[in-house]
This record gives sequence, structure tokens and C-alpha cells, in this order.
Amino acid sequence: MIDKAVNKSVQAIRRKGLSRARARSKASSWREEDTLGSRLVDTGVVILPTRGCSWARKSGCTMCGYIYDAGDLGDTELAQLFKDAVSSLGPVEYLKIFTSGSFFDSREVSDELLQSIVQTVNDAGVEQLQVESRPEYVKAGGLSKIVDMLNAQLEVGIGLETSSDLVREKCVNKGFSFADYEKSVKICNSKEVLVKTYLLLKPPFMLEREAISDAVKSALDAEQAGSAKISINPMNIQNGTLVELLWKRGEYRPPWLWSLANVLLQLREKGIKIPVLSHPTAGGKKRGTHNCGKCDSTVLSAIQEFSKTQDPSVLAKLDCICKRHWQDYLLLE
Ligand code: SF4
Ligand SMILES: [Zn+2]
Repeated sequence: MIDKAVNKSVQAIRRKGLSRARARSKASSWREEDTLGSRLVDTGVVILPTRGCSWARKSGCTMCGYIYDAGDLGDTELAQLFKDAVSSLGPVEYLKIFTSGSFFDSREVSDELLQSIVQTVNDAGVEQLQVESRPEYVKAGGLSKIVDMLNAQLEVGIGLETSSDLVREKCVNKGFSFADYEKSVKICNSKEVLVKTYLLLKPPFMLEREAISDAVKSALDAEQAGSAKISINPMNIQNGTLVELLWKRGEYRPPWLWSLANVLLQLREKGIKIPVLSHPTAGGKKRGTHNCGKCDSTVLSAIQEFSKTQDPSVLAKLDCICKRHWQDYLLLE
């Protein structure tokens, strides 16, 4: 599932970036609001600087630069960083841990560290814990162990990006197939673990209109596969990535906010039953999903509102002169 030419380009860019990167030694954490079922709850986010994604160390995805923020700390330091981060958050019902890689990859999170993290989560008394993983690390045995130890509902975020194997291989260089994703969702569901699927809106080498259709189809396919939630991530241009190179050459534009709103609207029209969310990184900025500059904050607020309520009317009523330009762009690009 690897396109050799794309993989080689990503590797070359990665080597250059890694030679300049400095190991991170601090965790980041913050509070936000997110939905659990139909409730808006206090949520904590912790970014733990593990050694980072093993796939990114070899090559990695065309849009991802998280590996440059990886750390080189031992288990004891990481466990303490996590404890300190959780206690600084105060009480939360929903806790999300991001390692910028895979929580179930033992090279990133060893068994000992995992046990300590679960203990800290249990002590904090959260209702739901979200972690992230590539499908190849989702194993029935390992998942059972965590579920048995954990006093909270477990949710696993999987970056599927697209349900098209062709797009995932040629445009994202993701290194796994839709069948791999389906298998990991089945394993999760068999352990009563929820799956949140991340989809990438507008991978490189795609037209805007193709990207919209791809995201809509992928969300419906992920629902069919058993995902409990979808998060649509419109492209943001990260440093040291193939996508950044294309963007700097003027060969890539991040998706319009209208395209994102259109994907969310289409999914409601097509009767998707699971929640569909989007919290765009760098929304309204040049490196993120954006419109004309005048309507960006209004459209972004409506997308936030939709993510909380799933009410399509907040998106349907939006307008701006640039909506016409976007419609032309879809036809003429
Ligand atoms: S997107 Fe995920 S799988 Fe791809 S390189 Fe980044 S962390 Fe790894
Ligand atoms: Zn506008």
C-alpha cells in the first residue's frame, strides 16, 4: 500500500527536518468543551512527548510534521509529566491523550508507562478516555488488558483519512489499507471500545470537488464499518512536509471553508447517523482551511456550532460574496 515515488519524496523531506528538530521535553495540556453523547462536557487534552509515530520515523504521511515535536524521555519522566498535566487540568469528564503517534505502539508507550497512565486516569475519575492509534497496533489481547484495567469508557481515534485505498496510498502515503482499518474497528467494537475516525479533507494531488466527494463517501464508509464518530480534518500546512513543499510552490491550496461546510451538510442530507465533528487547525489562516478573510470567523463559528449540535441549519444559512467564487473554483479548477 505504498507508492514508491511519494514514499521516497517524503523520506527525503523527513530526513532534512529531523536533522534540525530538537527533542521536546514538556507535555502540553488544556481544557476545552467537547460532546459526550448529547452532552457538552468539560474536557482535558494532554499532548505527551513520546518518541513519536514509528511510521513517521521511517517515512510518514505527506501532510504530517508531528514527528519534529517528538521527545526522547524515559518512562518515569513521561509518567510524571502525564500525572502533572492531569492534576493541572482539574476535574474533567472527558480526557484525550495525544502522543502524535500511536498509544498502542509499545515503542512509544511501553507496558509500564501504559499501566501508570491508566492508573492516573482512574485516579482522576474521568468518564471517557480517548487515545489514538494506527490500526496495526490495535490488537485484541492488548485492548482487553487496557479495558480491564481502565475504569472509564475507552475511545480510540484512528486516522483513516479516506476510505479510498488509491487516495490513501498515492496522496497520503499512509501505509495501511481500508481493510486494515475495518479489522481494527471490529476488534475495538468487540471489546466495546468506541472508534473515532479522522478523515482528511483535501489530500494533495486532488481537485477541490474530488476532495469533497471523497470526504463524504469516506465518512459514510466509516459509519458502515462501525465508527462511532467522525472528525473531518481539513488540511493544514505543517512544517517539513511534502504538502508544505507543494504549497510553497503554489501547487496546493488548503480547502475552502465552504467545502468543509458542504461536506458536513451533505452528510446530514445523506442521513449519516453518527456525530460528525470538525475542529479545524489554523482555520481562517493561509495555512489552514479558509475563505475570503471577511466571512472566515462566521463560517468557523457555524462549523463549531454544528459540531456541538449537529444542526445543519447553522451552515445552510451562511453566505458571502466569496461563495460564488468557491462555486466557480469547483467547476473551473
Ligand atoms: S498522520 Fe499519524 S500515522 Fe501519519 S505520520 Fe502523522 S502521526 Fe504518523
Ligand atoms: Zn467570504
